[in-house]
Amino acid sequence: MAEKFDVIVVGAGMAGNAAAYTLAKGGLKVLQIERGETPGSKNVQGAILYADAIEKIIPDFRDDAPLERHLIEQRVWVMDDASYMGTHYRSEDFNKPPYNRYTIIRVHFDQWFNKKAREAGVLTICETTVTDLLIEGGKVVGVRTDRKGGEIRADAVILADGANSRLAVKAGFQPEIKPENVALAVKEIHFLPQETIEARFNIGEEEGVVIEMAGKISAGMMGTGFLYTNKESITLGVGCMLSDFKEQKVTPYELLDRMKAHPSIAPLIAGSEMKEYAAHLIPEGGYHAIPQVYGEGWMIAGDAGQFVNGLHREGSNLAMTTGMLAAQTLIELKVAGKPFSAANLAGYKQKLDDSFVMKDLKKYRRMPEIFHKNKQFFTTYPDLLSKAAQTLIRVDGVDKKSKEKEIRKSFVESRSLFGLIGDAFKFWRAVE
Ligand SMILES: Cc1cc2nc3c(=O)[nH]c(=O)nc-3n(C[C@H](O)[C@H](O)[C@H](O)COP(=O)(O)OP(=O)(O)OC[C@H]3O[C@@H](n4cnc5c(N)ncnc54)[C@H](O)[C@@H]3O)c2cc1C
Repeated sequence: MAEKFDVIVVGAGMAGNAAAYTLAKGGLKVLQIERGETPGSKNVQGAILYADAIEKIIPDFRDDAPLERHLIEQRVWVMDDASYMGTHYRSEDFNKPPYNRYTIIRVHFDQWFNKKAREAGVLTICETTVTDLLIEGGKVVGVRTDRKGGEIRADAVILADGANSRLAVKAGFQPEIKPENVALAVKEIHFLPQETIEARFNIGEEEGVVIEMAGKISAGMMGTGFLYTNKESITLGVGCMLSDFKEQKVTPYELLDRMKAHPSIAPLIAGSEMKEYAAHLIPEGGYHAIPQVYGEGWMIAGDAGQFVNGLHREGSNLAMTTGMLAAQTLIELKVAGKPFSAANLAGYKQKLDDSFVMKDLKKYRRMPEIFHKNKQFFTTYPDLLSKAAQTLIRVDGVDKKSKEKEIRKSFVESRSLFGLIGDAFKFWRAVE
């Protein structure tokens, strides 16, 4: 292909589609390359869509985007093997349009998003893998693909190729991803009749519930579980740090099986038909794991740049926002007639720093290391909390003051007084 483009976008996930769409709307000539059969066919997500991010790119997305349910209730469960202790927040305010969060099925959503990009003028080629970046005189000038004679030139390349960007590693833009900076998540989609889902979760048509889970669900590893209601299915999954999986010798699938058999989860999926199983990496190294994200003729957006807020389970919105900001940087330079040099692309980093993306990741910069080194948050505390709740709730002739004393004793015996104070401080440092 001798044709030259303003920009080549690698990947048709959330970041790639956001970047390609924004660039085309800004009048740039864009080629998007996706290795999957169709956009989204390789993508795995729970999935919650955060309206704010897509709304900034396609304000009227609600008109035709494939949305499953808008979320009206958020549950957070801390679990031991037999029970959960949690908070449920449900509000009628979440039940009034414009809705803020939706469940989606990624394969449908990505196809819709890519169609919007193509309608805006993007040329998308699927079933094509970018194998290398073309670099001349230290500048990225295009890509090489697995197609015959597949060298294509452009003034800039946006790498939106997802977690563990092989292209960025190969080009020396970032080091190999470390197992302690990436989670391995597995998920399943279980089909149930719509009425069954609505009865089980006490929700109306189009209303949805999300359950975030922590504690022994991760078998002592740093990780969390999740369950989301779609229209006629339930997505559930669990993810833990890859380094922990290596040490614990538990397979992700075993973990998911245990989760599905948990007495609080099993009734929610009883009688369902499992139709999809998938495993995927989630970059969860946080702020300190973010690599250099721009250079001579290249930029990185989305998971490839480690833009994931693991604590709040936000990834797709960071991917869309970083894709959009990368595109906006290029549009501004093109309009000003400036080259896509590293010095000029530094504007992308400035935009990132000014956005919620970097502000949030910076806020939680200590979290990955603290949680990684303090597994008691995933093991001891869920047990202690569960036992404390049982002691308080059970009516057995023991007076309440004695019960409180017993609870205090169990905490001190497990962690010591200094240990408890230290843990409270560490927890606060992780989330402050
Ligand atoms: C189990 C799970 C649950 C999640 N739940 C949520 C959630 O509820 N909410 C949320 O916001 N986020 C969630 N995330 C995170 C979210 O999925 C990601 O942050 C988001 O998909 C990142 O988008 P992306 O475009 O950067 O990468 P991706 O969506 O992974 O897209 C990358 C694309 O690049 C393509 N590609 C890769 N290499 C090449 C190549 N060499 N040539 C051509 N194409 C290539 C891939 O095929 C893929 O289509 C979840 C992730 C997982 C794994």
